[in-house]
Amino acid sequence: MPLLPLLPLFHRLNREHFNGTLAVGSSPLVSVRWSNGRLRKTAGFYRRGPNVEGEHGCEIVLSSPVLKLLPQSATESTLCHEMIHAWVDLVLHSREGHGPNFLARMNAINAAQSIFQVTLRHQFPVDAESPRWWAICPSCSRKFPYQRRVKGAACRKCCDEQNFGIWNSRFLLVYEPAK
Ligand SMILES: [Zn+2]
Ligand SMILES: [Zn+2]
Repeated sequence: MPLLPLLPLFHRLNREHFNGTLAVGSSPLVSVRWSNGRLRKTAGFYRRGPNVEGEHGCEIVLSSPVLKLLPQSATESTLCHEMIHAWVDLVLHSREGHGPNFLARMNAINAAQSIFQVTLRHQFPVDAESPRWWAICPSCSRKFPYQRRVKGAACRKCCDEQNFGIWNSRFLLVYEPAK
């Protein structure tokens, strides 16, 4: 998935699920942007405070490295989650995290449509770079990162060097959970 422009999505979600309260005309109450390539610990966040740059003093940041690997619905779901935080903070002036207003709005949005579902946690790969599995060659002991186990995969280097490039079960990779 290439990265979507976020502003049109923000305005649509604002109209459909927040009665337009998160913008004045075409001007959002909160900055919305993609992260740089380093935000990998979460799919997105909302924050307000003196360290936030830009005109609004608050912003929603979505993780480009996490979300670019996922379908569009993951971006919608994450943006919507952070918009609920912004709405609780900027419109309700409540400090509640995932409190009762957050949950009520989340449930209402989930009931109103089925294109995406907002969840309490962003249930995406926490770190898009870290593998789920290490695949280990029993012959040369080299380790390869894998996101899922691939049945029948063998060590290419050993097949090449010891078996004329032909697959052999002697070099079948053995999987070990990475965490
Ligand atoms: Zn949250
Ligand atoms: Zn090997």
